[in-house]
Amino acid sequence: GEPLIRVRDLTKHFHVRLGAFGQEGAVVHALDGITFDVIEGETLSLVGESGCGKSTAGNTILRLNSPTAGEIVYKGRDLARLSEKELRPLRAELQVVFQDPYSTLNPRMTIGEEIAMPMLHHGQATKKTVDTKVAALLSDVGLPARFASRYPHELSGGQRQRVVIARALACNPRFVVCDEAISALDVSVQAQIINLLQDLQEKYGLTYLFIAHDLAVVRHISTRVAVMYLGRFAELAPSAELFENPLHPYTKALLSAVPEPDPVTERTRQRQILQGDVPSPMDPPSGCRFHTRCPIATDICRAEVPEWREARPGHHVACHLAGEGGAP
Ligand code: SF4
Ligand code: MG
Repeated sequence: GEPLIRVRDLTKHFHVRLGAFGQEGAVVHALDGITFDVIEGETLSLVGESGCGKSTAGNTILRLNSPTAGEIVYKGRDLARLSEKELRPLRAELQVVFQDPYSTLNPRMTIGEEIAMPMLHHGQATKKTVDTKVAALLSDVGLPARFASRYPHELSGGQRQRVVIARALACNPRFVVCDEAISALDVSVQAQIINLLQDLQEKYGLTYLFIAHDLAVVRHISTRVAVMYLGRFAELAPSAELFENPLHPYTKALLSAVPEPDPVTERTRQRQILQGDVPSPMDPPSGCRFHTRCPIATDICRAEVPEWREARPGHHVACHLAGEGGAP
């Protein structure tokens, strides 16, 4: 497929104040130079422990904040350099679905008003046509048309997430960031929402950036999976390849914690427990950021940042030792 979005060296640092009087500043290296393409029509998943920069990556690509450095090329234009005014006509095409639908729905607005608002705002419906369009969108997400007159508190968590998806769809998006979009839901409801997202992707040709902390969830829905650690990409590969031939020691550790569906292999699988906590993004380790927890780290890992390289076709990794016979 063709790249829909090209991300190059994308970096986002936040400046925070420390201390009671805010006299000391610090820089949070939330995102530190990630490079990849989002291919049209794919589901690209971003996984990693909380605080690794997944949400910052999603928000920065959507220009919900301003990058510190790097490029986000969409339709031949670098979103990183566009002003808010220049971004406005592109906003409808680039949508996001967040984890907690309750916090993003206005409790005083009906579901119908909530879904109608972006269409009226972006000129995709008129007062005359909007009710029909709202009904069609509710049907798209598996809700009856009569829900248009209800309020968020009258709906279940899964129904509210369907409303948020309908609202994102209302703008005819091409690219949707699903930021932990199912994490707050019960497991049975998660499966329903995943099925819905997949149906909508097929129907409307959507491209997803699917942010999750759980590798097991993304395995079957992803075209490709990227693993993040402390603001950088550790590894990126087609989903089956990543699960069958992980190259990065961090990916291997994450995968060893994923329950194996087959009870026979469950018994033989080596569970690898990661030592220590994730270091602070205010003071990230030198060289490879994973070296403080990596079971095979050597001197070069502490001294040099590993290059982001294509170790196998379509399989990228940032590790000095991966694929050289050095990694276990
Ligand atoms: Fe481990 Fe070194 Fe590879 Fe980093 S570069 S993951 S520390 S082996
Ligand atoms: Mg997050």
